[in-house]
Amino acid sequence: MSLFQTTSSANSNLAFNFLWDDKTDKIKRDVIVQDYKDGGLRMTDFKLFVKAMKLTWLHWFSRGENQTWHLILENSLEVNLNYFLQCNYTKEDIPASLPNFYKQILAYSTEVMGKEPTEYNDIITQNIWFNRFITTKDKKTLFFKKWYEKGIRIVSDVIFLNNEGQWQFLRMRDIESLLNDKVNFMEYFSLFHAFPKKWFEILNQEDHFSNESSSLSEYSFDSLPPSIKGPIIYAKSKMYYKLLVEDLENKATGPLALAREYNVLPVDVINSFTDAQEITKSSKILILQYKITHRIVACNSFLHQTKIRNNDICNFCNQVDSVRHFFFDCETTRQFWHDLELWTNNIENSSEILDLNLILFGANPTSSLLAFLILFGKWFIYKAKIKKSPPINMRNFKLFPKSQYKIEKQALVLNFTSKKEKMF
Ligand SMILES: [Zn+2]
Repeated sequence: MSLFQTTSSANSNLAFNFLWDDKTDKIKRDVIVQDYKDGGLRMTDFKLFVKAMKLTWLHWFSRGENQTWHLILENSLEVNLNYFLQCNYTKEDIPASLPNFYKQILAYSTEVMGKEPTEYNDIITQNIWFNRFITTKDKKTLFFKKWYEKGIRIVSDVIFLNNEGQWQFLRMRDIESLLNDKVNFMEYFSLFHAFPKKWFEILNQEDHFSNESSSLSEYSFDSLPPSIKGPIIYAKSKMYYKLLVEDLENKATGPLALAREYNVLPVDVINSFTDAQEITKSSKILILQYKITHRIVACNSFLHQTKIRNNDICNFCNQVDSVRHFFFDCETTRQFWHDLELWTNNIENSSEILDLNLILFGANPTSSLLAFLILFGKWFIYKAKIKKSPPINMRNFKLFPKSQYKIEKQALVLNFTSKKEKMF
């Protein structure tokens, strides 16, 4: 293991321990590193980060015909290197004889490989060989050296327009004249059967003459350029990283389950966390909201579920202590929200009703001040319940956010008016 690898995994643990207070992870790491919109925290995945850095080497592989790396790769391949780098190859296609460093980067590159082509121009220019979309029944790509050497390399080399104006696969005798030799019957039919039938449908149905602009030109640096032929080669490591993260298989399940349970849209659950970032800079409060959206708040039913407690009953009344109960239904919190509602409506001269959805997900509060107070209300309840003090009422609450309020004011997170100023 290299020094860099050791350090990066140590960093990674440090970050995650910070998030979970040195206890076991409650959300999969694969989820935490994803974008906010996917229920993640955009935490850096150091393994993927290192992978992304190494992928920038692809760019060097593809240029400088006389460079060492180019020659090393070319020696082990049966085809031209730049041809290979435009193939949608699989890990199995990477020559075993390559030095490990090169094998590793080519293996990583299969994770940023092109999407299956769906447009006329992209199909006819696909490389035939080492193509994960042109495979035998057991998912093996094809390579016929003799065909390649005679110049049969891309899809348009093996199809022709018949008398009805339809594209079809070349006949055996046509291939023979291209090869200037007899065709191996098995080879011919394995390619014939491997060729995706739906590509012919696209070639023959689409009005491709009106659609000549390449799909690649529409993409800017920030959106991901879809590679149609082989791996993405000219990206910066940041872009590779983004691609690798988007490719992670574990998806956040908490927000979806919560959305079903409360009959709201998943996007509203997820937005409750991103919106909170506009309201406060306090990482403790943000993490609490994040935990709510993933259903991992330390209410007693969660502690019971994770076998930390032997029952799920509320510490303050005799009900089951769900997230909903913890923040809303519990008799220790109902009066508090009611009083907060009266107080803010009085100050704001409004008639906002603090219902369950507004409290849990901050769904469209009328003002950023109200959103701020709701977030702090939840944090206040959480602290009071975990420490079993002080009583949850407006008098204690008003003492509570004073210092935080000052910090937020300095950070200019909230829009202040003189009326709001007087509140604290
Ligand atoms: Zn209770």
